[in-house]
Amino acid sequence: MSGRRATVLVAGAGIGGLTAALALAGQGFKVIVAERAARLEEAGAGLQLSPNASSILIGLGLKSSLSTRAIAPDAVSVMSGPHGGELVRLPFDKSNPAAPYWVIHRADLQAALAAHANTNPLIELRLGYELENFVTDADGVVADLRQGEARHRQTATALIGADGLWSAVRRQIDSTTQPRFTGLIAWRGTIENRRPPDQAAPPCVQLWMGSNAHLVTYPMANGQQTNVVAISSGQWRDQGWSVPATATEAGAAFTASRWSEPARAIIASVANWRKWALFTLPASTRWVDGRVALLGDAAHAMLPFAAQGAGMAIEDAAVLARCVSEKEDDFPAALKRYVDLRRERVVRVQNLARQNGRIYHLAGPAATARDLAMRLVGGHRLLTRQNWIYDWRA
Ligand SMILES: Cc1cc2nc3c(=O)[nH]c(=O)nc-3n(C[C@H](O)[C@H](O)[C@H](O)COP(=O)(O)OP(=O)(O)OC[C@H]3O[C@@H](n4cnc5c(N)ncnc54)[C@H](O)[C@@H]3O)c2cc1C
Repeated sequence: MSGRRATVLVAGAGIGGLTAALALAGQGFKVIVAERAARLEEAGAGLQLSPNASSILIGLGLKSSLSTRAIAPDAVSVMSGPHGGELVRLPFDKSNPAAPYWVIHRADLQAALAAHANTNPLIELRLGYELENFVTDADGVVADLRQGEARHRQTATALIGADGLWSAVRRQIDSTTQPRFTGLIAWRGTIENRRPPDQAAPPCVQLWMGSNAHLVTYPMANGQQTNVVAISSGQWRDQGWSVPATATEAGAAFTASRWSEPARAIIASVANWRKWALFTLPASTRWVDGRVALLGDAAHAMLPFAAQGAGMAIEDAAVLARCVSEKEDDFPAALKRYVDLRRERVVRVQNLARQNGRIYHLAGPAATARDLAMRLVGGHRLLTRQNWIYDWRA
């Protein structure tokens, strides 16, 4: 696998960029990762990693560093926001240790990816380097990287834009596409669990559905924390992952007239809220231009209601590395093939996430009909409907 001549420049050391670096280095490529932030610090929040994504990370050698940090929940418990009871339980198949369903603190995942990248001699991780712009020619890419007041010119065989929703790389290859605000805000926080985890109550992901809002919780950090994400409508739309929010604004949609006491108790237990305006990119976004390609949120930011944004970034990374390793002598063709292999699946997931949001937020008689239908279908069959996502393998 060694002896490849190409150097790939990756902009962004998020989950997508770091996974791409590891996957490309695994195929023998030299990789330079330029990350704008001077320090890698993921916001204090959790992430669900389904088998399609966890299997890739395990294949890249991260099993031991992740399995000690991740929790494998038993099920998704779908709860009625207005009434407080469980509507249906979707039990995860826990039989395949090579493809678990995990929930994990983002910081733990990011730290594990960065630690592996830092010990790989083919990967150079440059923190505090912002990609400003680039030019391409028949032989490669020349990128301008800004480090504080200094500017560095970096040549590479190809450039991968893993630089997130507001991607500078995308701005250059598709200047007309802009992220669209969805009118929804994610309020995120954690609850510190002071008592040891209750062994009799197996860990699960809870999804609380209510009118025009929903709530997701799951355990993290050995059960010592509960991750809470509340979604409701709003007009605030600044950029950023970690903007502080007040308990009053986070809880505004979860009124006593519409939400049961147990759901409101979850909201009331969060000490520090952060808010994140939800933006998406259209399916028509251009992902590739010659030697330059996008992956992850830079290409296909989606609503988080299928819990697949990071999962799709991880899948992108694996497919991209495979494509360029199969066609090292023709990067433009390899990157085009990567996009051809990815786009249809990713658009289907984007659509599912949008549809889930509509279903979760139903109100009145439509919500009653939804609850009845879910009970009738049952948890096993509801989960089977996700097989096309979870059973995918790189
Ligand atoms: C509330 C919420 C819950 C979610 N839950 C889940 C979940 O459970 N499961 C799941 O799979 N997904 C989930 N997602 C989606 C997931 O968080 C994203 O899809 C994922 O983080 C995208 O990763 P990325 O690496 O593509 O981009 P990012 O994580 O945005 O990383 C981009 C990186 O690029 C850097 N950067 C930006 N510009 C430049 C530049 N010019 N030069 C150099 N570096 C640059 C940034 O600093 C950053 O480090 C959720 C999202 C939200 C909002």
